Amino acid sequence: MRAVPTVQQAVHVRAPAKINLVLRVGAREPSGYHQLATVFQAVSLFEDVVASPAEEISTSTTGRWAEHVRDDESNLAYRAASLLAEASGTRTGVHLEITKRVPVAGGMAGGSADAAATLLACDLLWQTGLAREELGHLAAELGADVPFALTGGTAVGLGRGDVLTPALARGAYHWVLAISEQGLSTPEVFEEWDRLHPEYAEHPSIDDAVMAALISGDAHRLAEVLVNDLDAAAGNLAPGVERIQQVLADSPALATLVSGSGPTVAALAPDHPTAVEIAETVRAMDVADEVEVVTGPAPGARLLESVREDEG
Ligand code: ATP
Repeated sequence: MRAVPTVQQAVHVRAPAKINLVLRVGAREPSGYHQLATVFQAVSLFEDVVASPAEEISTSTTGRWAEHVRDDESNLAYRAASLLAEASGTRTGVHLEITKRVPVAGGMAGGSADAAATLLACDLLWQTGLAREELGHLAAELGADVPFALTGGTAVGLGRGDVLTPALARGAYHWVLAISEQGLSTPEVFEEWDRLHPEYAEHPSIDDAVMAALISGDAHRLAEVLVNDLDAAAGNLAPGVERIQQVLADSPALATLVSGSGPTVAALAPDHPTAVEIAETVRAMDVADEVEVVTGPAPGARLLESVREDEG
């Protein structure tokens, strides 16, 4: 029987947000970037991207945080599609429908998740034949957090955070995310960190205790090693962070930390019911604009469904 050729009508890809369990910042390089040593964990808050054939590249964003992003050439999803088109010599376009569930400029790499989802969706739609490794290179070109959104799970990130090694992590962790409507600019948070640490020359690294805690799968052990060097810088620029942390300090959370460059605050709970209870407390105190209960690790960018039409 002859195989019927098919045309991809739409490709639906989902990619996760991340939190940083550990974020150690090193000296500023002449390029302006900082060396980082981080442990990412992908969490169950997802961006969806549906890619369908079109003549040009375009995006349309809906969802809780859509009003904070522009549907133009500056959108990271648009940039991901153009970069892949250029790298693969693709001449057709794509329409990208983005559902934004991850806060914008929240330190959770939502834009990076859109970029990673777009790379995978367009790769499948255009059937570029690029290897997953090549997609990884394009991802790193788009931004330091994009490669992790492709791979997901739990991983150590070195360099600018884009040189990834998967981490052995047991179990599932329950997180409460206290989210602010007003985001923070990552470069501004690093500038504030520079102001707080003049003459800093340390090389950042991840403590062995962090890897041991992840292998144990014990949330209490993980709570002891959570650390974010950007905590104070983010707190100086977003005063709401301190109020949220005060409320969480009086809750059954095992530990709290700012995610990435903030202002999202992540609280580690011992189990799901306690996470729900903590979330209710944060809502009742009215210190955050949105509260989410999520689990980690979550998978990286993946195909949800692909609608094909027989070519006749
Ligand atoms: P990170 O943790 O990687 O520093 P973040 O979570 O703080 O990132 P993002 O929401 O990923 O921040 O995006 C940062 C900026 O990128 C936003 O302020 C926005 O102007 C711009 N941007 C472009 N495209 C997108 C997109 N699709 N989603 C979100 N932001 C986008």
